[in-house]
Amino acid sequence: MVNLWIDGKATPGSANRTRTIINPATLEPIDTVVEGDAADVRRACAAAKRAQRHWGRMPALERAKLLHDAARLMRDDRAELSALLTREGGKPRIENLDEVEWCAACFDYYGEIARNSYGNSVPPTGEHQINFTIKEPLGVVAAIVPFNYPLLLLAWKIAPALAAGNSVVVKPSELTPLATLRFCERILGHLPAGVVNVVTGTGPEAGESLVDDPDVACIAFTGSTAVGQRIAERAGRQLKRVNLELGGIDPLIVFPDADLDVAVPGTAFARFLNNGQVCTSAKRIYVVEPIADAFIERFVAHTRELTLGDPMDPVTDLGPMISERARARVEGQVAQALAQGATLLAGGRRPANAGLGYFHEPTILSGVRADSIAHCEEVFGPIAAIEVVATPDEAIERAAASDYGLGANIYTHNLTWAMRAMQEIKAGTFWINDPLTDNDAAPFGGMRKSGMGRELGEEGLDAFRDVKHVHVDFVPERKGFWFPYRNRRGEIPA
Ligand code: NAD
Repeated sequence: MVNLWIDGKATPGSANRTRTIINPATLEPIDTVVEGDAADVRRACAAAKRAQRHWGRMPALERAKLLHDAARLMRDDRAELSALLTREGGKPRIENLDEVEWCAACFDYYGEIARNSYGNSVPPTGEHQINFTIKEPLGVVAAIVPFNYPLLLLAWKIAPALAAGNSVVVKPSELTPLATLRFCERILGHLPAGVVNVVTGTGPEAGESLVDDPDVACIAFTGSTAVGQRIAERAGRQLKRVNLELGGIDPLIVFPDADLDVAVPGTAFARFLNNGQVCTSAKRIYVVEPIADAFIERFVAHTRELTLGDPMDPVTDLGPMISERARARVEGQVAQALAQGATLLAGGRRPANAGLGYFHEPTILSGVRADSIAHCEEVFGPIAAIEVVATPDEAIERAAASDYGLGANIYTHNLTWAMRAMQEIKAGTFWINDPLTDNDAAPFGGMRKSGMGRELGEEGLDAFRDVKHVHVDFVPERKGFWFPYRNRRGEIPA
């Protein structure tokens, strides 16, 4: 049984309720965790508030050292953490090994840049004055994280939040809390007590209590658009800061000059990585004539070669989906797309031989209409929806027609098409010939219904800081523009 992590201690829940965490590949129980409630959230936030006073004043160099220590501990624990991520989330182990390394790199990055930037000096408006800004921590940050990248999306929040001098209360997904608890207890256990706290539990109970807690200054949330909207409404009542990383229906355009030896496996990776359970998966694929037939033929063949099965096996490309609910939702969306005229080219079923878990074959639909559910709703699973378009302009127009704006991908060497697409398509990240590659030093986030605010980069640090302008006059003197105004009467025009 795994307890909550509050004030530097493993802490039982106040309500004595637990949840069993299931391996989605085998349906075997892995462990039980405490199901936290409002009282647990209150204790965690109070501890975080107490700890932040000291943490926020600690010299940045000392905080940086502690963050680098965390990165080293993560790398040392990579085998265990990646195995636990795989067992609870079903993502292939090979991807989870990468995830742990990316987390370590993120802690190293913020350890460095938070030592480097603290505000600006600005030119004064008068003599013997100095003006500068300092960037201060916000206080207690709530980090609410989804199931698909439990540690990476945690690191993108708490590495910058901690580097900036905030304390944090983490609420992991109720489906994948185990690696997070291990991470906060073992990898971040050397931080002062209360600086990092974890309350496990459901969104409506632990999550909403955290959003509402008066000691929480900022909510950093990654998850679905519907939950993000709800959090924004609640946070708005108390005028709290929110950083919202939400859903996406990202386009990927294969232009007619694309090299299919690259574009075919690249598109498959962009759509089927983590079983299609990636916010920036290529969920709308537009292939431009005259290469459409060749692309589709090779894409189907490549997809049929992917290995579905035990995510601990190093040759597995696709593991199970996260839950029966998630799989049933995707099956419903495929059935609706087919009813709306799409054609099934591959997959479309639960595999017969992959195991007991929540597996779904990688699936390809073609003839997906612009108004089809597969192009208008986020399909969070291994479903590639292809639309063939006649011209590059039509592809750009179709790709740009969305209420969402997380990422966008194109394959082309044609500079004109590439730049036109980059200008027309609203997206927080625009990838040309290399889908889904992130960079700790560059901002990541969404436009429109994909969210607001940015993680990573300097923007991701500023998300957890407030700016104070300091005005100094080092020769105190009485100003001529103060009261009484009778002394200034001569200044008024006739
Ligand atoms: P989700 O929205 O169901 O849950 C995310 C987190 O929010 C979980 O910890 C959940 O317990 C919590 N939560 C649920 N209801 C809540 C409430 N009322 N108040 C507070 N917290 C609440 O998302 P999910 O199914 O875990 O993840 C998939 C979604 O996340 C997809 O839509 C995907 O696109 C999105 N996502 C976005 C990004 C990004 O960076 N933009 C990255 C990964 C995933």
